[in-house]
Amino acid sequence: MKKILVLISILIIFLLVTGCTQPTGQTSQSTSANTVSSPVQQVLAKVEVYGNIADIGLPIYAHLMDGRKQEYVLAKTTTAELDKSGRKYIIIDPDTRDISYAIALKHNADCKVPVNYCSAIILDDGKHLILRAPAGQKKLIASADLDFNWLPDTPLRLIPRSSLKLGSRTGSGVTYDTHIGGMVSAVRQDTLSSLVGELSGEQPIMVDGEKVTITSRATESGETIKKATQYFGNYLAARNLTVEYPQWTSDDYSGTNVIGTKTGKTKPLEVVLVTAHIDTEPSAGRSPGADDDASGVAAVMLIADLTSRQDFDRTIRFAAFSGEEQGLLGSDAYARQAAKNDELIVAVYNMDMISWNQNSNVAEIHTRIPSNPGYEGDMEIANVFTDVVSKYDLSGDINPVILSDGEELSDQASFWEQGYPGIWALEDGNNDFNPYYHSQDDLHEKMNMKYYTAYVKASTATVAHLAGISG
Ligand SMILES: [Zn+2]
Repeated sequence: MKKILVLISILIIFLLVTGCTQPTGQTSQSTSANTVSSPVQQVLAKVEVYGNIADIGLPIYAHLMDGRKQEYVLAKTTTAELDKSGRKYIIIDPDTRDISYAIALKHNADCKVPVNYCSAIILDDGKHLILRAPAGQKKLIASADLDFNWLPDTPLRLIPRSSLKLGSRTGSGVTYDTHIGGMVSAVRQDTLSSLVGELSGEQPIMVDGEKVTITSRATESGETIKKATQYFGNYLAARNLTVEYPQWTSDDYSGTNVIGTKTGKTKPLEVVLVTAHIDTEPSAGRSPGADDDASGVAAVMLIADLTSRQDFDRTIRFAAFSGEEQGLLGSDAYARQAAKNDELIVAVYNMDMISWNQNSNVAEIHTRIPSNPGYEGDMEIANVFTDVVSKYDLSGDINPVILSDGEELSDQASFWEQGYPGIWALEDGNNDFNPYYHSQDDLHEKMNMKYYTAYVKASTATVAHLAGISG
């Protein structure tokens, strides 16, 4: 017995020494006095924020809020520049050469047991983990079932590229429109049920004359994600939208986005982009992804259907992005190309997980942080959402809560990085997180259909008001 106790003690000590202990980031505090970097070497630093982040004068790669709701930015620059900024900073990586970084949400990444990516953690802010991936090791993080985004290759664009220019509003900017009221009433629970059932493999679908069951939409599932993508594209094409299938490649992954366009009548260059992601986790086996994110994809489809018989001032584009689970790869490729082409995307409305609800009815609308120059543009979109919930009598079923926390772990973040305004429409992620997330039990039957239907009604009215009913 004693022997066993000794053995157990040795094992515990061994695990404590070699296992995944949580680095705090705070302990590696560096100042200009004791830095290990040369003055010309680019480091990754966590920099304090006060005032507008555009005034910091450093190349900023992320703007985040930690577990104590304190904001900070990540800057990639030299210690000389960091010192010049006059801000307090901590070097979290002294050498950034050939390194990629991931920002992951901590909720599913506790590292309580040894996990392959734990040693890559260079900062734990209480809400996010910052992970370091040397060249060739990106796939270790991309395949680790984390909710994450890659730090971009170029600094965040802090000068807004576009906005709705709705002007200063007091929250009463949306007036009830009978056409839009008609679209809202036409959002039906049974339609959403069959779309989600088809996307999540509950029932078979017909794609180009062939009967298939979508058992998985995982990025590397091959034929099944291909069929799901085609199904989405065919649905939009049948509603007279122009459909494109832009391909992307990023390191070890590649995929296809689907984009359907409905051209605006009076402001065709101004684009309202309605998005969700078609890919799922788990990456192997049955991967239904009903809430994450068939809920968003089905909403995009139904909104495309309901708006197809009406003219709008602005162009509406409907997107199903892929590679989201590997670090927003599809939306990143699309947003970078849009910025390169100087496209005028005036609003990104991203729906990712909008159907799980046990009790609160909370609908989280995430914008950037108020000290970010992009915040005003995001708030214009968020305000339209809260307005339509009251104007279209949806308050009994959903309760909008605007969270200006810059939470960047879904596709709208790819557009924020390029200076485009956008929001992330999410269920109550903070207080009522879907326990079936990223599992084979993320099924249609677990959805709260009443809440989900109300969420899609509000989303339909939001998109219609953003695009503007024409004539
Ligand atoms: Zn998702």
